[in-house]
Amino acid sequence: MKQIKSVLILGGGSAGLITALTFRRLMPDLRVELARSVDIGVIGVGEGTTAVFPEHFFDVLGISKEEFYRETRPTWKQGIKFIWGPRDHFFYTFDFQYDQKREGLALANGFYADDDCSLLDLPAALMQGGKAFATGPLGKPIISGGYAFHIENHSLVSYLEKVVAASGVVLHDDTLEHAEREGDQVTRLVFKSGEERSADLLIDASGFRAELIGRTLGTPFQEFNHSLFCDKAVIGGWTRTDEPLHAYTTAETMNSGWCWQIEHEHWINRGYVYSSRFISDEDALAELLAKNPKISNTPRVVPFRSGRYESNWVGNVAAVGNASGFVEPLEATALAQLIYEVRWLIEKIRVTGGCPDEQTKADYNRIIGQAWDEIRDFLAFHYKFNTRLDTPFWKHCHEHTSLGDYESFYQSYRKLGPAPETIHALPHRPNIYGIEGYLTMLVGMKVPHERPHCPNEQERAIWERHNRAMKARVMAGVDSVQALAAIRRPTWQW
Ligand SMILES: Cc1cc2nc3c(=O)[nH]c(=O)nc-3n(C[C@H](O)[C@H](O)[C@H](O)COP(=O)(O)OP(=O)(O)OC[C@H]3O[C@@H](n4cnc5c(N)ncnc54)[C@H](O)[C@@H]3O)c2cc1C
Repeated sequence: MKQIKSVLILGGGSAGLITALTFRRLMPDLRVELARSVDIGVIGVGEGTTAVFPEHFFDVLGISKEEFYRETRPTWKQGIKFIWGPRDHFFYTFDFQYDQKREGLALANGFYADDDCSLLDLPAALMQGGKAFATGPLGKPIISGGYAFHIENHSLVSYLEKVVAASGVVLHDDTLEHAEREGDQVTRLVFKSGEERSADLLIDASGFRAELIGRTLGTPFQEFNHSLFCDKAVIGGWTRTDEPLHAYTTAETMNSGWCWQIEHEHWINRGYVYSSRFISDEDALAELLAKNPKISNTPRVVPFRSGRYESNWVGNVAAVGNASGFVEPLEATALAQLIYEVRWLIEKIRVTGGCPDEQTKADYNRIIGQAWDEIRDFLAFHYKFNTRLDTPFWKHCHEHTSLGDYESFYQSYRKLGPAPETIHALPHRPNIYGIEGYLTMLVGMKVPHERPHCPNEQERAIWERHNRAMKARVMAGVDSVQALAAIRRPTWQW
């Protein structure tokens, strides 16, 4: 391959724009162009992030926090409240709950969390206590650590367009009409305006249309249909009135899937992700409305296909975002996976001096494919062990969900219980979730194992002492409304 000196990105959704900006910041010598169709528009959903997002935006892209908050009006997310399994609820956080041992105790936290697992780390305790952040001197919210955001997709895209344009990326509003290939090379991109555009590296960020990696190159798509059975979402919302502004996403079990609740400052967004094999669109809508009578807009149905392209980098095309693969937003991983894809892509270009060979692409495809499969298998744990409902859909999930590459990890958990040593049974170096994610779901759903521990009096007393200390920190914390007011004061300094 000749040296990559120019990049053309097809697509201006959050994937294309974040990719453009990451190239500008990390490879400023490359020429970057981006073409997107305003007529086709963006998907307009995708509002929960993980803790990877603020790290990438503020530390890697160097985006100004002040400007970002002003322009996108995000709210904070300390994790996910799962209404899932036999407990009333449990929390998934971006910090450490189970890969930890409280001082004075012999075993890791998971062995003591039978009755209550809501105070294991500060983010979980904050969520439980209705708070967003702990406070420091003078009551200032401590906005750091593993927090994430809820952001409306259109606000994020509009803001990113401005930042991308200002960074020197050439933006075109044009629709790709057709593309031609020779072998694994895409040789011509012909646009509606009559323009032909090209570059040394083409990035397919065209969303579910996957114009280059799918339609033009015909790369095989691997469906995740042995573990993820949902294929549609019906989405609606209402204007916030007196509801508390939670610093978390809620994921609630439904008859034939699950429902998210995403908290914007003035809007509450609900989305029922379901399997069309088990419920019709009409019945899914009826179930959503029965649970959420305040929904005031016309709910829309978004169909999707869970899976990934067998290879994301083929010839002169690399696919990112929804064009590279998709899973339902049960852990809101799409933007984190996109950031992972683009950072690895840039790293592979960098270490090969801009001349990646076929081995480099094969390595990249293995790393990214493994990351997609890890997300698939992690979500599979959510389905396989959720015993909250016994509907036909959930029975099907219990019986038929494959744990994929993580089956042996589950067997190790059954033998060892929630011990951090189970990390050795992970099939490869953990990526997004680490051992934490798996143990959170397994302990959260009270999945049985062979090492239950019955704490003695002394252990109970130590456990309670830690809980009291955690509650005291939460008491001094602030909720999202107070934290938003704090960062909007003229005296606030990041
Ligand atoms: C129901 C649902 C819920 C989701 N929730 C989350 C979530 O909570 N968190 C999360 O991180 N992600 C979520 N996602 C994923 C989310 O969609 C993506 O994270 C994100 O929006 C990236 O989208 P994208 O840029 O890949 O695609 P899109 O936003 O679809 O952008 C595609 C771009 O390509 C352009 N394009 C397409 N074809 C052409 C053409 N022929 N010519 C020119 N331009 C073209 C379009 O105009 C557009 O600019 C969710 C997705 C769904 C379906």
